[in-house]
Amino acid sequence: METTRDQIDIIAFGAHPDDVEIGAGGLLAKEAARGYRVGIVDLTKGEMGTRGTPDIRIEEAQKAAEILGAEWRINLEMPDGNITVDHENVMKAARVIRTYRPKVIIAPYWDDRHPDHVNTSLLVTEAHFKAGLRKLEPEMEAFRPNIIIYYFLNRMEGFSFIVDVSEYYAQKQEAVNAHYSQFGDAGLKPLAILGVKAPLQFIESRDRFQGSQIGVAYGEAFLVRSPVPLEDPLRVWGR
Ligand SMILES: [Zn+2]
Repeated sequence: METTRDQIDIIAFGAHPDDVEIGAGGLLAKEAARGYRVGIVDLTKGEMGTRGTPDIRIEEAQKAAEILGAEWRINLEMPDGNITVDHENVMKAARVIRTYRPKVIIAPYWDDRHPDHVNTSLLVTEAHFKAGLRKLEPEMEAFRPNIIIYYFLNRMEGFSFIVDVSEYYAQKQEAVNAHYSQFGDAGLKPLAILGVKAPLQFIESRDRFQGSQIGVAYGEAFLVRSPVPLEDPLRVWGR
C-alpha cells in the first residue's frame, strides 16, 4: 500500500478532551504498545465544562496523549456544546483523515445523553464517507479508512466485540486522571460527568464488568456496523 510520511494507523475522535480516554483509552494504549501509530483528534476544547480553562484542558489532554503513547493530539476548535454536523465541520474531520490516512478510525457511539457525543458520532461517520469522494476537494487525495469502530460514553448497547485491556488499564486510568481539572478532587465537590456523580467509579466498574464478560480483568466494548471477521473460532473458544 502507498504510504505517506505522516501516515497513522488509527485515529480516535472525541467531542471533549477526555472522551477518547474514557471510551477507548485501553485500546489506544494497547495498539500504541504494539507499535501502531495512534493519533487523537478532539473536536472542542471543552470550554463549556464547569471546571478547567481551555488552556488547562489542552495541557491535560497532551499529557494524557503522551501517557497513552499517541503520536499526536490535535484540536479542531469547534464550539463546545454546539457541535454542528455541517459541511465545513465534516470537511475539517475529512481533511484530517485524508492527511493521515488511518486504516481504522474510532468515534463515539451515536446514541448518548450528550448532544456533542451524538453529533461527533454523526460528523465522523459522514467525514469517513466524504473523505473517500474523489471529486470533493480534489486537490487533496481521497482516502477512506477501512472501518469506524464506535466506543461508548454514557450509553452502552449492542456490542460487537470486547477488547482485553487488562494489561493497559493502569495506563488508561493514568490518562483519565491526567484530566485533573475534571477528575481530580482538589477539595472540590463531586461533579457529574457522564451523567453520574462518581465518574471514575462508573468507568472502572463498567470496564470491569465488560472484562468479566470475556473472562479478563478489564475490557472495553466496541460496536461496528459490519460483521467482524474471525479467522479461527477455535483460537477464541477452543481453550
Ligand atoms: Zn464528552
